[in-house]
Amino acid sequence: MAKIEMKTPLVEMDGDEMTRILWKMIKDELLFPFIDLKTEYYDLGLEYRNETNDQVTIDSAEATKKYGVAVKCATITPNAARMTEYNLKEMWKSPNGTIRAALDGTVFRAPIQVKGIEPCVKNWEKPITLARHAYGDVYKNTEIKVPGAGKAELVFTGADGKEIRQTIQEFDGPGIIQGIHNTDKSITSFAKACFNYALDTKQDLWFATKDTISKIYDHNFKDIFQDIYDKEYKEKFEAAGIEYFYTLIDDAVARVMKAKGGFIWACKNYDGDVMSDMVSSACGSLAMMTSVLVSPSGVYEYEAAHGTVQRHYYKHLKGEETSTNSVATIFAWTGALRKRGELDNIPELMAFADKLEKATLSTIENGKMTKDLALITSMKDVTVLNSEGFIKAVRESLEAML
Ligand code: NAP
Ligand code: MG
Repeated sequence: MAKIEMKTPLVEMDGDEMTRILWKMIKDELLFPFIDLKTEYYDLGLEYRNETNDQVTIDSAEATKKYGVAVKCATITPNAARMTEYNLKEMWKSPNGTIRAALDGTVFRAPIQVKGIEPCVKNWEKPITLARHAYGDVYKNTEIKVPGAGKAELVFTGADGKEIRQTIQEFDGPGIIQGIHNTDKSITSFAKACFNYALDTKQDLWFATKDTISKIYDHNFKDIFQDIYDKEYKEKFEAAGIEYFYTLIDDAVARVMKAKGGFIWACKNYDGDVMSDMVSSACGSLAMMTSVLVSPSGVYEYEAAHGTVQRHYYKHLKGEETSTNSVATIFAWTGALRKRGELDNIPELMAFADKLEKATLSTIENGKMTKDLALITSMKDVTVLNSEGFIKAVRESLEAML
């Protein structure tokens, strides 16, 4: 069978530890035999980041802006222990943070559902995609522990020297205060990323805040979303047959529990943190979740939602067998290949991505899986495979399909 040709390279960001091992196996077993794979390779493994003073991370983000689609392996975010382990010159920043700052994006995460690994919420027939705003609010707060009686004020001094001043509280004893902010620019980026992603995946978009109580702060989010929707997206949504729907956050939570899934739930930063943990744990495992960073200019970076699976890597180094789940990393590749196929008009590449995903899921549905899934599946008599064995089983399913 002739290999599928590509036109534009994918930006390939290699990573660390166990996921770096999976990365190579996936390429060797599931990609090279079928695709004339074109990538521009950036080694974000910690050793090379250290060698290049992290320039390689910045270069990979710039390349992503240039080509439009990247696929990223999980990487170590160094802490004190890693300083000694890798003999680092500096405690380099999180590559994800650097890439997000460069691309100005929103992260979308959705559970990968298979028969045999059922969500705890029985009516969730389709995945719920979480879109989390990743800037500001309580994550960039200023807090004071009020020692005793006194007056707390909120003061804004304009660049022109003009002051806006409001009383927060007249304290008659000890207490606490907190200052938080967001910017119209960041909220606008967030809104556009959500609208574009909804169009891209043809799913309804839900957005919710507490605007009845937070009449200026949360209301500003609601207004910016509505304004952009009316001006730039309403017609496109109607043409695609999808809906934008705003409601109160408590109403959204209640509705989500009764819903069938198959929509995107846009959340403010804190809501997104808590609700994405709720949705993912209800669906079983971090290794059964897709993750993509979408920038407002339409640049895509696909990755796995989990880390480098350090504990398994140390076993691997000792020559012990591992059973690490490669599904999220396989789906990072299929997401990127499908998007590349779509942008370059290569239907065979898109079809290949679909088939590789189907082969991965059918392997699990036929009872062949890694240990993490074997522990939670409702299937009886499953075969637990090691890291490589699972990828080889996926190849068999894929070859049978092609
Ligand atoms: P982790 O790599 O996500 O792993 C935590 C635990 O979750 C594992 O020990 C394993 O549990 C289970 N697990 C995660 N992914 C799995 C998979 N694919 N298959 C099977 N089990 C899986 O988190 P971590 O150990 O806290 O972090 C390790 C490194 O990853 C850190 O250096 C951190 O900086 C980095 N990290 C990177 C990213 C990213 O690049 N996106 C995200 C998070 C963390 P058992 O050991 O019980 O089997
Ligand atoms: Mg969290």
